[in-house]
Amino acid sequence: MSQPIISFSRPYRSARELDNLRDVLELGHVHGDGPFTLSATNRLKAITGADHILLTTSGTHALELSSLLLDLGPGDEVIMPSFTFPSAANAIALTGARIVFVDIEPVNGNVDASLIGRNVTSETKAISIVHYGGVAGDLAEVVRIAEAHGLALIEDNAHGLGGTWQGRQLGTIGELAIQSFHDTKNIHAGEGGAIIVNDPELMGRAEMLREKGTNRSRFLRGQVDKYTWTDIGSSFLPSELVAAVLDSQLAEFDHIQAWRHRIWNSYSAGLSDWALAQDVSLMTIPEGREHTAHIFFMLMPTHADQTAIIAHLRELGIVATFHYVPLDSSAAGLKYGRTPEPALVSEDFSSRLVRLPLWAGMTDGEIERVIDGVSSYSPR
Ligand SMILES: *Cc1c(COP(=O)(O)O)cnc(C)c1O
Repeated sequence: MSQPIISFSRPYRSARELDNLRDVLELGHVHGDGPFTLSATNRLKAITGADHILLTTSGTHALELSSLLLDLGPGDEVIMPSFTFPSAANAIALTGARIVFVDIEPVNGNVDASLIGRNVTSETKAISIVHYGGVAGDLAEVVRIAEAHGLALIEDNAHGLGGTWQGRQLGTIGELAIQSFHDTKNIHAGEGGAIIVNDPELMGRAEMLREKGTNRSRFLRGQVDKYTWTDIGSSFLPSELVAAVLDSQLAEFDHIQAWRHRIWNSYSAGLSDWALAQDVSLMTIPEGREHTAHIFFMLMPTHADQTAIIAHLRELGIVATFHYVPLDSSAAGLKYGRTPEPALVSEDFSSRLVRLPLWAGMTDGEIERVIDGVSSYSPR
């Protein structure tokens, strides 16, 4: 008897999304920066405690906007982990700056902070990190190095909305941080993103770069009497249709997060005996962190087990997946980056990591099926 497929991820449907979309179309303000943009931005400020947030068309565009704000260009270097999403690297490569890939730590997959300091050169301008799975790494050391060398810190917080480190919200620690609202993320708008500008001096320029390099935002606030081309820039602001969906999702943030945490906690408890017996490491959350239940991962004993358990689960109608092929050895990574020391942990981590289905909407029966399916696998 074949059971219905349990997908890896499924975009959440929020209660007000259709009403919000109708409101936008009926009110007629469909381009960006209307009432839903304002409302969604305020909800993001309430969650993060940040003062300066701008919605963008994607997390990728927020990363590109970050690079523009930091004036990155040829001759500059940016240090980042080899185990991250390509957008973080693209945002550097597009400016002509060089990426310096460093390895990760083997438990949570975050950058190995001890490797950053020894790879800072006179060209280094910034450090770009990701809070993998919405779990902060050794941020004390990252921040210390950034401050000691006067480097900007960019947080890719696509996984970490609402997560904390030592009581501080993720996304409020670096000069700049980004969020993604792609429909695989906890909160989504189909496609969408945001930039959090924690260095207030960058905010005025961030507004202009986001609006085609014009001072249109100041014009709309009545601060200038006509708007002109003032800087480089692009069109990074989302339509109100996107903001309307985002706003309806953010209105249910606590509900969505509680649902995801319930799944995460069920996996963690339900798989612990199996994992111990089979030499599998389950995702853990270190002291002083609150995570976001964005992903639940397991590290299998070998790469062969990674392949085999994904196939085993597929036969049971459960879609599990690996994550992040390391960037340093990818075709573009070789072209646009350099890797001073081989990123062996990153390669090993990537070759053994398996992520389980996790989305608000999964039923208790589906969660059980995943736990049973995983537990019925024995490593080779
Ligand atoms: C999804 C994601 C991005 C890109 O966000 P988009 O909104 O899809 O452009 C960047 N970094 C990480 C870590 C992501 O997971």
